[in-house]
Amino acid sequence: MVQNSNVYTIAVFDGDGIGPEIMAPTLKLLENTAGLLGGFSFEFIHLPAGATHFSETGEALPKASIDAARAADAVLLSAMGLPSIRKPDGTEITPQIDLRFELGLYAGVRPVRVYPGQSTPLSDPRAEQIDFVLIRESTEGLFAHMHEGQIHGDSEATETLRITRKISEKLFDFAFRLATQRAEKRGRKGRVTCVDKANVFRAFWFFRTIFLERAKAFPDIDADAAYVDAMAMWMVQRPWEFDVLVTENMFGDILSDLGAGIMGTLGLAPSADIGDDSAVFQPCHGTAPDIAGQGIANPLAMILSAAMMLEWLAVEHDDTALAQAARLIDAAVGENVVAKCNLTGDLGGTSSTLDCADAVIAAIQRLAGSDSYSDKVA
Ligand code: NAD
Repeated sequence: MVQNSNVYTIAVFDGDGIGPEIMAPTLKLLENTAGLLGGFSFEFIHLPAGATHFSETGEALPKASIDAARAADAVLLSAMGLPSIRKPDGTEITPQIDLRFELGLYAGVRPVRVYPGQSTPLSDPRAEQIDFVLIRESTEGLFAHMHEGQIHGDSEATETLRITRKISEKLFDFAFRLATQRAEKRGRKGRVTCVDKANVFRAFWFFRTIFLERAKAFPDIDADAAYVDAMAMWMVQRPWEFDVLVTENMFGDILSDLGAGIMGTLGLAPSADIGDDSAVFQPCHGTAPDIAGQGIANPLAMILSAAMMLEWLAVEHDDTALAQAARLIDAAVGENVVAKCNLTGDLGGTSSTLDCADAVIAAIQRLAGSDSYSDKVA
């Protein structure tokens, strides 16, 4: 919990692979921004977890780490897991998923946004208008019984999907509240689209029924629904039309990578996993073992996730300085991406991880010192 009015305790999971490489410059950037703006500071508590920790100790996510994460004001996580390190049943350790269950983080928030001039795989000029948020339910769906799948001999395997009214209502209310905030910011009517497979599965009809019930409590927001297979096509054909999409855990897992794909790289895709009392902020990407140790990973998704953390903390603690810091970081990343300033290889640049992050710090300093700062970050 907050120790005094302006010191925030952040639980930090440095993770595996490129995790520590992108976390270190992000913490430096947060400290730098706090020093620049004043009014708040951070205490970072580094917690053990992950594949390397599992190979050394047999434990992927120690209980002490869960407890410390729960007690912190927010959690910052890079990425965990290594394909070379597996449990006896062949699956990988997944502390980043287990933490969502432990802390009840039902709303996985995945913004999908394209900056002006940014290259994307979509050639349509309207790609620059892409700005939607995918909300992935993160504690149930096909992941509800994820460690309990059954393999019957060598002839059959089963997994179970679970949807509950309690979590679905919270999830949909979260989606409609987010659409309301976005509508205020963007000066246009908000829209929430429920993404499901209600034509085939009863569980998804149940999911959609609860969505339509909750929509009635938000008459200012348009509510509609789409089947997940059609949505996968529309996310490629006309993604600029969407505002807030809300979906089940497994569908969200897949569609959020599709969202990162239309942004051109996972290296620009941040995320937040939010519950009633805790929240974890992490990039959408994994530990990228293919480029780990080379110092070339893109740190921007991690940095944008840290900005989402500040935005969430600002609301939780009614701290306008944190909200200002979040907007400043966001604006600095946007400015550098548009200007193609010190970008890493996945964005067509040649910069190292550290140079890319340092360039964002420089942009923050420049923006904070400019006369038009308040306009730029407003
Ligand atoms: P990945 O996201 O790690 O990598 C996919 C591709 O994207 C790779 O080519 C990688 O080099 C590239 N990439 C990812 N992040 C990048 C960045 N910041 N900058 C530049 N390029 C980047 O996915 P994967 O290879 O399927 O998984 C690797 C490991 O990560 C696995 O062990 C997996 O279980 C784990 N994983 C963890 C999380 C998490 O902790 N949230 C998420 C996904 C995967």
